[in-house]
Amino acid sequence: METCLFCQIITGKIPSEKVLETADFVAFKDIHPKAPVHVLLVPKTHRDRPEDLTADEITAMLAGTEEIAQILGVKETGYRLIFNVGAHAGQEVDHVHLHLIGGAPAKGMY
Ligand code: 5GP
Ligand code: ZN
Repeated sequence: METCLFCQIITGKIPSEKVLETADFVAFKDIHPKAPVHVLLVPKTHRDRPEDLTADEITAMLAGTEEIAQILGVKETGYRLIFNVGAHAGQEVDHVHLHLIGGAPAKGMY
């Protein structure tokens, strides 16, 4: 999808600070980090919702979270993995993305 922000980040049309890239997904730093470590993992194929991800994409992205946590030094201290889905979750970008957030204690669930 040409107009999708994250599709343009994946192709490099819009610059981003990439942390990891595999055949299935790209991970880059969130432009407005909510914590010292805030990375977005996005499938290379545009998909609207988490349930549209293929089994291979889900496996690759979850394996990637561990690698990213290791790279950014939060594997031992812990981190949060979040899919925002729809309006009440505050989802801003339609291209499905998994947030990896850490580097400081979380301030509760809600
Ligand atoms: P959502 O609220 O949809 O779950 O998360 C979208 C995230 O994308 C937000 O945390 C926001 O800061 C991030 N974001 C929005 N535009 C850009 C951008 O152009 N570059 C990067 N790296 N992150 C972005
Ligand atoms: Zn997209």
